[in-house]
Amino acid sequence: MKTIGLLGGMSWESTVTYYQIINTVIKEKLGGFHSARCLLYSVDFHEIEACQSRGEWEKSAVILADAAQRLERAGADFIVICTNTMHKVAPQVQAAISIPILHIAEATAQELIRNKIDKVGLLGTKYTMEQDFYKAKLQEAGISVLIPEAEDRDAVNYIIFQELCLGIISDRSRQSLLTIIDKLAKRGAQGIILGCTELGLLVKQQDTDVPLFDTTLIHAQKAALYAPGS
Ligand code: GLU
Repeated sequence: MKTIGLLGGMSWESTVTYYQIINTVIKEKLGGFHSARCLLYSVDFHEIEACQSRGEWEKSAVILADAAQRLERAGADFIVICTNTMHKVAPQVQAAISIPILHIAEATAQELIRNKIDKVGLLGTKYTMEQDFYKAKLQEAGISVLIPEAEDRDAVNYIIFQELCLGIISDRSRQSLLTIIDKLAKRGAQGIILGCTELGLLVKQQDTDVPLFDTTLIHAQKAALYAPGS
C-alpha cells in the first residue's frame, strides 16, 4: 500500500473528515483491520490565512512546499493538499518535490464527467470562485462554470472563514447556502461543486435535490483508492 501524505490544517475542521473518509474507504476495499498508511503535516492555518488575505501567495507557497518536502522525506508516496484554495500554489509545491500531488480540481472534474455534468455551479472561498486557478482546471475538462453573484460570493466566503473554519455550524447559514445553490441551479447549473473542504460540514446531499459534488469526499476517496493500487 502506498503512503498518503496529507497536507492539512486548512482548516483542521475538514482535515478530520479526510482522515475519516480515507480510512473508511480503505476498510471497505481491503476489509478486516486494514486502515490507511498515511502521514499528516498539519500547518498553522493562522499563517496561511494571513498570507491569503494579504495576497502573499508566494510566501504561502514556500510554507506549503516545505511541508510537502517534509512529507516526502518521511516516506509519503503522494501528496493530498486538503484545501481547494491552496491549490492556487500547487504548481510551486509540485516543483519542490518529486512525488505527485493528487489535484483536487482534476479529481472533481473527473467525477463531473463521470456524471455527465458539463455546466456546474462553484461554491468556495472568494479566491476559488473569483480567480482562475481552479475554474481553469474544470474548463480544460470541457466543463463550464457558474459562480454566485457578488453579494452571494461574500456570504459564502463569510460562512467559510467566520464560521466553518472556526467550527461553527449554523442553520441560518445552511439555509443561505441552499438558497444560493437554488439560484445557481435556476441559472442552468446541473450540479454544484462544494469547492471548499468545509462546505460539506454544513450542507449534505439530503438537504437539496440539486446534485452536490463535495470536493472533500471526492478528493479523499480518490486518495484512498489510489493508495492500494501500487
Ligand atoms: N478549506 C477551504 C478550501 O477548501 C478554505 C480554507 C483555505 O482557505 O484554505 O478552500
